[in-house]
Amino acid sequence: MADTEQSTTPRIGVLAIQGDFAAHADALRDAGAEPVLVRKPEQLAGLDGLVLPGGESTTFLKLLERANFLDSLQQFVKTSPTFGTCAGCILLAKEVLHPAQPSLGVLDATVERNAYGRQIDSVIENAETKLGLMELVYIRAPRIVKTGPDVEILAERDGFPVLVSQGNILAATFHPELSSDRLVHRYFVDRVREHAARA
Ligand code: GLN
Repeated sequence: MADTEQSTTPRIGVLAIQGDFAAHADALRDAGAEPVLVRKPEQLAGLDGLVLPGGESTTFLKLLERANFLDSLQQFVKTSPTFGTCAGCILLAKEVLHPAQPSLGVLDATVERNAYGRQIDSVIENAETKLGLMELVYIRAPRIVKTGPDVEILAERDGFPVLVSQGNILAATFHPELSSDRLVHRYFVDRVREHAARA
């Protein structure tokens, strides 16, 4: 096949300072991208997209501040396709509650941390979404309690969005990298390809 949009292999970074970055790298590879583990600001150069994995958002913030990484990360996520899952979704949101904390502020949404309480710290569900039927893995998940007018809702749970998209940003409160299907990663890789083709 010729090197068409469909057959290109985008280079997609995975922020690898904390959390479950290795599972994202595997999922990206399965979905047709070349994953690049990102530990320093200069490693963002030349990437077609970026994944902010789950983990602990407070720890991410501490490590990013310590490494002087926040400014370059903010620049990247403002202009390039970025996918945040769970703690990554918290980092992308404009407003974070429970408790309030700073964020990159590029997703027009309010996110409440650890919103589902202890009894369902972790749960696996199958649900119909705009991307098709998929397995959704929640681990101490946040809840998206408010979204702005430009945010598209791709999946919901109990009436709250769990997968949303706005411009270059994709965010999930669950962990698609832990599912057997690769629907969300394929969707993201396609969007990264489209963005690269337009650039
Ligand atoms: N509870 C975590 C936080 O607030 C997110 C959990 C996760 O990423 N699995 O950052």
